[in-house]
Amino acid sequence: MTPPTSPSPPSESLRLGRAAIRDIVPYPTERTPCAADLSDNTNLFGAPPAALRELASSGRDEITRYPGLNARRLRDALAAYAGVEPREVVSGCGSDDVIDSAVRAFAEPGERLAYSDPTFTMIPVFAKVNGLTPTPVRFASSGDIDPDALLATEARIIYICSPNNPTGSVATRQSVDRVIEHAPGIVIIDEAYGEFIDGGRVSDAPAYDRVLVTRTLSKAFGMAGFRIGYGTGAASLIHEIEKVRGPYKENAPAERAAACALREDVSWMRELVTRAVQNRERFAAALRANGLYPLPSAANFLLVPIPNAAMVAQHMLERGIAVRPYSGLPGIGDALRITIGPWPMMELALDALVSTRATVVTTGQAR
Ligand code: PMP
Repeated sequence: MTPPTSPSPPSESLRLGRAAIRDIVPYPTERTPCAADLSDNTNLFGAPPAALRELASSGRDEITRYPGLNARRLRDALAAYAGVEPREVVSGCGSDDVIDSAVRAFAEPGERLAYSDPTFTMIPVFAKVNGLTPTPVRFASSGDIDPDALLATEARIIYICSPNNPTGSVATRQSVDRVIEHAPGIVIIDEAYGEFIDGGRVSDAPAYDRVLVTRTLSKAFGMAGFRIGYGTGAASLIHEIEKVRGPYKENAPAERAAACALREDVSWMRELVTRAVQNRERFAAALRANGLYPLPSAANFLLVPIPNAAMVAQHMLERGIAVRPYSGLPGIGDALRITIGPWPMMELALDALVSTRATVVTTGQAR
């Protein structure tokens, strides 16, 4: 019998790995069970009823066979919801997958990916893993994107997140138009939180030759566990992304259940969006009454500047409330991002935050 070969020591694997990804810190997906998880901007009000009903009827074939057949059903449902033609939609394993595939499809290694900083933390990662140079620029002092700063980078890909994660700010139509008009390459407009604002560009994207608008079923629609995201754009642009993304990225039960929810649960989703927006404004007022000043937000979360944010978040977690801390955000400093959910959860969060702040912010120490 041949003796098993011993695995290479870790330093050897590191040497074999690409230099560009050595310093990437994997996205933190570990979760501590807690009373209220307000850390990931999902829909904390529940799951869409039609999706729950459809899931219960998954059959044997959906497990033993590849998903192919139902993908068409999902694409049709996404197109009808977004107001575009089916050939103008690409779906993927979350909108992460669609953005990552688009970056690979439209930029050569060595080119730049520009974005207003701070934004979705995966964007510099998608740039690096695809061999591009992440190129952050500052937001304008008004909170809008700065189109000229983005264009000055001459980046092959310009990424605009609106409403932006983590600030909640919206890019004005005028600024986005200016970027689209002068961009040398592709403009990705990430509307993961698009359901929380009026307007958005998801239906308009196919009218341009260089615009991809991405959206997700993970946020307002309450289906993050299904991992379904999508993009809209001109059919020729969508086709290039599909080549890179590859087949079978969504699983069959999720595709079928999500397609049903897109047809039947849109009013359910809109009702919960209204409640989230009401609770956001109520929570912002409660924070202000306690001397904390969240940034104005158009999404289902608030960014609250606060010193020692990581320590405050850790202390809140010990009290059963998970929020997302950020350190040293450009132009903002330390801050907590808090997802908006049903009001009893927000009350728990407020209690935990206010009592934690008294200890951590003033002494710089968690108890
Ligand atoms: N874009 C933004 C701005 C996000 O906040 C997120 C999730 N945090 C995503 C894209 C990715 O979402 P998903 O892959 O679940 O569709």
